[in-house]
This record gives sequence, C-alpha cells and structure tokens, in this order.
Amino acid sequence: MSSRVHTLEVVEVIKETDEAASLVFAVPDELVERFRYHPGQFLTVEIPSDRTGSVARCYSLSSSPHLDDELVVTVKRTIDGYGSNWLCDNVSVGTRLRVLTPSGVFVPKTLDADLLLLAAGSGITPIMSIAKSALLAGAGNVYLVYANVGIESVIFGAELAEMIVEFPDRLQVVHWLESERGLPTVDDLAELLVLCERYDTFVCGPTPFMEVCRAALQVIGTPDKHVHIEKFQSLTGDPFADIVVAESSATSTAAATIEIDGRSIDIEWPRDTPLLDVLLGKGIDAPYSCRAGECSACACTVRSGEVRMRKNDTLVDADLALGLTLACQAVPVSERVEIAFDQ
Ligand SMILES: Cc1cc2nc3c(=O)[nH]c(=O)nc-3n(C[C@H](O)[C@H](O)[C@H](O)COP(=O)(O)OP(=O)(O)OC[C@H]3O[C@@H](n4cnc5c(N)ncnc54)[C@H](O)[C@@H]3O)c2cc1C
Repeated sequence: MSSRVHTLEVVEVIKETDEAASLVFAVPDELVERFRYHPGQFLTVEIPSDRTGSVARCYSLSSSPHLDDELVVTVKRTIDGYGSNWLCDNVSVGTRLRVLTPSGVFVPKTLDADLLLLAAGSGITPIMSIAKSALLAGAGNVYLVYANVGIESVIFGAELAEMIVEFPDRLQVVHWLESERGLPTVDDLAELLVLCERYDTFVCGPTPFMEVCRAALQVIGTPDKHVHIEKFQSLTGDPFADIVVAESSATSTAAATIEIDGRSIDIEWPRDTPLLDVLLGKGIDAPYSCRAGECSACACTVRSGEVRMRKNDTLVDADLALGLTLACQAVPVSERVEIAFDQ
C-alpha cells in the first residue's frame, strides 16, 4: 500500500447550498507534513460502493494553506452521479475516509502576480483556495468572474462578500447569474476581461464554460502560457487498489535520473513503459491517482532530455511550457532524461 494513502476523519460538514456540501477533515499532528498543499491542489477520496467495492473521486481543496489548519473539500451533487451523491448523503461528523495526499498542478507559480480567476458552479472550489491564499499571502490584484445558474447555487457567496470588504483595493468579484443575464458569451467575457490579458489566469468549471473562457481569452490576447485549466472529471481507475505493474518487453532503455522525495535515483527506463510503472515496480513511492492521464497527480518536471506522453487529458499549454509531463503516461524519447517530482 502506498504511503500516500491515509485515513482522515471528518470533523464538520457544512451545507453550502441545496446541492453542495463542504467536508472538513482534521489532520493529525503526525500527518501534517504529508498533507501540506498548495492552493489549487486536490485530494483523491475513496468512496465505498456495494457494487464495485469502492470508487475514487478527486475533490479540490477549497481551504487555504495560508489560513486553515483543517482540509476542506467542497462536493457538488452531479445529477445521477454515484460518488458526489454518496458523499453528500452519507458523510457526517466522525466519518473516516481514505484519501490520497494532495496533488495537482492547478497552482499559481507565485501569489504575488495579478490573478484572473474564472469559475462556474463547483469550479469555484480550487479558485476559492487560490483567491484566499493570494489575498492573504500575496501582493497582486485578484479579479474573479464567478458564473452560476442562479443566486441559490452560489457557493461561498457570504465568504466572498466578506473578502470584498476586507480587500477592497485588491479583490474584484463579478457574479454572473444565468437567471439574470443568460449564459456568458465570448463577447460578454471579452468585454469584462479586456484589461486582464497579462494576468496569470485560472479557469475551472463545466466544459462549455471553459471553452467560452478560452475563446474570450484569445480575443483579448492572453498568451496560452498564462492560461491554467482544471478539468473536473471522474476517475476511471482505482488508485486505492493494489497495483500490478506489467513486465517490460522493451529491448532498449533510456538512462534516467529521477529526483523524488529529496533524493536522486538513477534508473534504466524501458522505452515501452510509463515512468510511473517503472518507479512503482522498483518500490519507489511516486505520487499518482488516476494512472490514465486524467488528473495530474503524477505531474513532474522534465529538467533535461525528451519524453512523450501516450495520453494527456489534463495538462494544458501553460503546464507544458513549464516542462511538466505525466509520469503515468510518459515514455522516454531521448537517450538521457532528468526528471524531478517537484509539484
Ligand atoms: C482534479 C479534479 C478536481 C475536482 N474537484 C471537484 C470539486 O472540488 N468539487 C466537485 O464537486 N467535483 C470535483 N471534481 C469532480 C469529481 O471528481 C467527480 O467527477 C464528480 O463529483 C462526479 O462524480 P460522481 O461519481 O458523482 O458522478 P459520475 O462519475 O457521473 O458517476 C457515475 C458513475 O458512477 C458509476 N456508479 C453508479 N452507481 C455506482 C455504484 N453503486 N458503485 C460504483 N459505481 C457506481 C456509474 O457507472 C458511472 O460511471 C473534480 C475532478 C477532478 C479530476
């Protein structure tokens, strides 16, 4: 069992709206180091199921590492979804859940830059963590556009109102309610965002919303390398299950140096095997969650050399420009590669 799997207890459940609840996890003293996180990262939660034993789902942390001792995730019910409804219906104070330590790359490189935050519905969750952290620990301006169907579906409405009072010169929030203004169009957003083309930009929400945002950002001229996207999708695999790593049949290998957990390891990397499988096969406790190119938990930085991802359904241009790759999908292209798990 990976040392990244831990059981945490829920110490509070907060009803945010009719459709969304925040689960507050206490972190015991001995796990504080393991559960340190950056604003924008997520937990992977194991959810029991009579049908399959369990399913795994990712939930972004809405708490801020600069403000909160406890870890908070905010879950919005998905119509006919299994995991989100199970969590909203069954979790109460004292429930113990297995989770993976925080991971993900939807994280500002600096909290001092001006930030443009675009959220819709439950997409506010990582955005809230980033906004709180930037205001408390950073120096830049924060411009948030938050879209919802109606006033009743706005999560964190009261908290945002308090933040506006506390940071009147640095925080601006535009609530876009579909019930009043219809869905935002590319032109609507381009008009709102026209002064933000140099901002470090974070976008999270349903796919159609994120597509409109991307198009609007193109209209105002934001370079792709400034645009970070978090896709909310359900994992198809189960990272809590025991992992069987297939034997490689490759005749050729690359020489790789891997920095992980403060040490440097030299390995022969078979050309047909994703890096994550090589590391797990050697008993190295590398971070992972979906193992299917869907979630970025295993993201790492290529310091030198070249790799190729077999599938990438999560990293965007801004991530690739930083040299990020997914260990669960990366195979070597060059003879020598240096990689660091530094996310
Ligand atoms: C990085 C990341 C961050 C995220 N952050 C958030 C967040 O902050 N807040 C949030 O609300 N969401 C978040 N999500 C989305 C979240 O992980 C889930 O995708 C979402 O909650 C929907 O999951 P669901 O199980 O309810 O729905 P679905 O995935 O649609 O569930 C339906 C699936 O469950 C299966 N199923 C049905 N019944 C059972 C059963 N009894 N046993 C087993 N399987 C069954 C069905 O076959 C079907 O495949 C995030 C996703 C990612 C990748």
